[in-house]
Amino acid sequence: MDITEILHNYAEKGFSYDPVSVPIYETSIFSFKNFEEFQNSLLNEFEAHLYSRGKNPTAEVVEKKIAALEKAEDAKLFASGIAAVSAATMAFLKSGDHVVCVKDAYGWTSKLFSQYLKRFGIEVTFVEGTDPKDFIENTRTNTKLFFLESPTTFTFALQELSPIARFARENNIKTIIDNTWATPLFQNPIDLGIDLVVHSASKYIGGHSDVVAGVVVGKREDIRHIFNTEFMNIGATIGPFESWLLLRGLRTIHIRMPKHMENTLKIIEYLKTVPEIEEIFYPFYPKHPQYELAKKQMRGGSGLFSVKLKVKNLDQIITFTNTLRIFRRAVSWGGYESLIIPYAVTNRDGLTEKNKIVRLHIGLEDPDLLIDDLQKAFEAMRKVKL
Ligand SMILES: *Cc1c(COP(=O)(O)O)cnc(C)c1O
Repeated sequence: MDITEILHNYAEKGFSYDPVSVPIYETSIFSFKNFEEFQNSLLNEFEAHLYSRGKNPTAEVVEKKIAALEKAEDAKLFASGIAAVSAATMAFLKSGDHVVCVKDAYGWTSKLFSQYLKRFGIEVTFVEGTDPKDFIENTRTNTKLFFLESPTTFTFALQELSPIARFARENNIKTIIDNTWATPLFQNPIDLGIDLVVHSASKYIGGHSDVVAGVVVGKREDIRHIFNTEFMNIGATIGPFESWLLLRGLRTIHIRMPKHMENTLKIIEYLKTVPEIEEIFYPFYPKHPQYELAKKQMRGGSGLFSVKLKVKNLDQIITFTNTLRIFRRAVSWGGYESLIIPYAVTNRDGLTEKNKIVRLHIGLEDPDLLIDDLQKAFEAMRKVKL
C-alpha cells in the first residue's frame, strides 16, 4: 500500500457522518443488543468492542495504520513504549529461559533484562551485536528470545537483521526489535525476517512531545497471544485521546522524517569542522563504521545522534550545555524541538570517557539557527578555565 493511502483515510471508514478527523471514542464500555452478542464478545475479547482496556475504535485506527506502515498483519498500542517492550518480551518467556539482548539498549529495556526478569529466573546474555555471531554463538538450548535495538540510541551501533532473524527462525527463537529510531518510514524489520517490532510512539510517531505511548507490531497470532497474556493482565492500555494524538502526529510522519534527516546532515557537516569534536555517532555519517549496513537496511536516518567531545574537565560540558538557547535540555526526542542530553547528567561519576558523549536531537527548526546556537556554545566552552 502506498504511504499516502495509509496516512490518508485507510482504516478510518465506518464512522457515522464520514468525519475527516477520526472521532475520539471516549467510552470505557460498549453495550450489546442481546445475550448472544454479549457472550460472543466476552469469549473473543481480542476481536470485540467490549471494554476499552482491550479495544477502542480510535486506538484501532492507529493500530491498523502502523501495522500497514510496518508491512505487518497487526499492531497493538500500549500506554508507553516500555510497556510495549515488556509485554512483547514477557509474553514469550517463562522461568528457566535464556535471552540474548543487545548491549546499550534503551535504559529501561536494559534494566528489564538485567534486573526485573532475573526475579523470574530468566537468564540474559548482553552482546555487542555488531556481528551476527554475537547472537549465534551465545545461543543455548534454552534460548527463547533475541532482543535487538538497531541502531542503539546512545552510540548508534547497528545489528545486521537478516542473518540474525534467519538463524533465530531455524532455532525457534523469537526476535523482537526496537525500531523507534528509524521509524516505520525508514526501516521495516519484518521484511527482513524479524518477528516483532516495538516502538516508543512517544518519539517520532507522536512527533510533537505531547504524548507517551508505545506499539507492538507483528503477525496476528503473535499479537493475539500478547493481547491474551501480558496486555490484558498488566493492562498498560492507551487512552482514546492519546490514540488520537498519535493519529494526528502520524499524518505528517512522511514530511517530518526527511526534514529531520536533512537538518541532521547539515548540523553534522558543521560539526565536522569543529576541533572539539572527537567522534560523531550517526549511522548515515559516511565515517560511521556500519555506514554500508545502514544504507542496506534503512532508507534514511532520523534526527538523533551523539558526539564525543574533546574536553579536559566536566565544566566544559556543563558550560556547553548551559549556553545553548535553542537546543533544550531534556530527555526523550522525536518532537519539533532540538534537544541536548549530555551523558554526564545520568550519573555523578565526573569526567569518564562515556561522560564526554552528548546526545543531540535535531528538530525541525531552521538549521542555520541551530548551528549558530552550537557555535556560541563551543565559544563559551573554549573560555572555560582548565
Ligand atoms: C523512549 C524509548 C523507549 C521507551 O519508550 P517510552 O514511551 O518512554 O516508554 C524505548 N526504546 C527507545 C529506543 C526509546 O528511545
